[in-house]
Formats: sequence, C-alpha cells, structure tokens
Amino acid sequence: MSTQPTPPNRATVLASLRDYLEQLREEGIDGLPAVNPPSLTASGAQAAGDAATNAAKKPAANTPDDKKLTLKRDESAAPPESLPTTPANAATELFYRYPGLEKTGDLEMLRDFIGACTRCKLAPLRTNLVFGVGNPHAELMFVGEAPGADEDLQGEPFVGRAGQLLTDIIERGMGISRSDVYICNVIKCRPPENRNPEPDEVSTCEPFLFRQIDLVRPKAIVGLGTFAVQALLKVKTPISKLRGKWHEVRGIKMMPTFHPAYLLRNPADKRLVWADIKEVMKFLGQPIPPLGARR
Ligand code: URA
Repeated sequence: MSTQPTPPNRATVLASLRDYLEQLREEGIDGLPAVNPPSLTASGAQAAGDAATNAAKKPAANTPDDKKLTLKRDESAAPPESLPTTPANAATELFYRYPGLEKTGDLEMLRDFIGACTRCKLAPLRTNLVFGVGNPHAELMFVGEAPGADEDLQGEPFVGRAGQLLTDIIERGMGISRSDVYICNVIKCRPPENRNPEPDEVSTCEPFLFRQIDLVRPKAIVGLGTFAVQALLKVKTPISKLRGKWHEVRGIKMMPTFHPAYLLRNPADKRLVWADIKEVMKFLGQPIPPLGARR
C-alpha cells in the first residue's frame, strides 16, 4: 500500500499563493481569470468612524534634525494666485467627473472635497480613508498603490513594514526627512485582503490623486511598484521595463521603481531601487550621501 504525502495545510498554501501572486504582480501580470468573483455593493455605504478628515488635516510630523537634508520649497514665496494650471495634455475630464474638484486650491480643500467618501465599494470596508501625508509643497512625491492594514488603521500611508522600508530609503538612503516629502497612494481606501485595486476603484479615486499631484506640483514623483506606475502612466508595461527611466505624469518627471513590499521579499533588488533613487537625487540636485554616511 502506498503512503500518501501529507497535504500542506491551508495557511501554508495561502501564504505561498499570496507570495506567488505578488511576484506575478511585480512582474507586470495584473490579473488572472476570476471564477465567480464576490460582488460587493456600495449600497448603504456609510463609512462609520471615518477619522480621515482629521488625519488629513494633521500637520506632517515635524522632526527637526539638522543632519537630514531638506527638500522644502521656499515657503516664504507667495502661493500661486491662480489655481495650478494643468498641462495641455492633462486629462481635464477627470475634473469634470466631479464638478468643483478643479476649485480645490490646496490639499486641505481637496481633503474636504473628498469628505467621508462613499463613491466606491471600498468605502464600507475601511477604517480610515488614507489621503496622504507630508509637505504640501514637497519637491519630491512618492505614490504607492493602496493602503494596507496598518495604513487603514492609522489613516497614514506607508506606516507598516513596507512603509518602514520606504522611510529608511528616504531618511537613511537619501538623507531627507520623511516629513519633507509628500506620500500618497493611487487609491485611498484599503482593498479587502490587500487585493489589487479594481478598475472601477481606480477610476473613481484617480481624479483625487491627479489633483494631489497638481496641487503639490513636486519637481519629481517616484512611482512605487507595478500597480501605481501602471495607473499613473495608463500602461500595462511591466515595472521591470519601466523602472530606471524617466517618464512624465501631468507635466512632472516620474521615476518608476520597485515597491518596498516587493523589496522585502526580494532584497537583492534593493540595488536597482538605489540606482533609481540616485537618478532622482541627481535630477533634484541633491548630494548623494556616501555609503558610510547613510544612517
Ligand atoms: N503599500 C502601498 O502601496 N501603500 C501604502 O500606503 C502601504 C503599503
């Protein structure tokens, strides 16, 4: 009689499946055929306990540290009289989708405009809407995919494990304070089980991301991972082909690189991210801290 091998338990199978799917996603494969996908409805979607407005209004944590370089713009300069102009190639129809969006003159107004959002099916599932954090006049902006569990709980982007790695890249690698850059995501509410955002969720939320970009008007954007970069560029090209080269989003230079969550699983690719980040620093005219000086 042959003995059957013990089947792996459910948790092990799910963990390896998840790793595999994340790997595929980083390689630019953004979907597998779904069988009877669960449907969620936005009906009655009231985001209870939405602390997002407060989170958005909270000033960026200010940790003065004169060892860190700053990327602050001259804040004594008067704010632009008129609303930031959108480049000729900008998809202005994004604004018309939400009448009045074009009148939001700063990030606080934009956050108020979004309100306790119930525009998509993620609303009833979130704890907090995760708007963005950092210097509203930053020269450098990081755009990720969507909040995860920690971000959903805290109302702030990139505060979990991947967030800690992003903070290290910014603070230890680049020598810049996290509070001097601006950090946000393509979509503002956590997808269940951290699944990929779905096209309807992206198209509902992206006008807010594009308005954030127009309002911050950084000199450069770093797009983090396949999903964010594909959403910013409206392409399906794998991140491995896009990274390391400059692209343009709403008239602003955008450098795609790997997502920090991917780096946690593939630390050998940190050197590629560092190469991309050095390009960004060169473009911004920032000195590149020598290896030994990186804290
Ligand atoms: N991953 C993202 O893309 N964004 C976050 O805010 C956290 C993890």
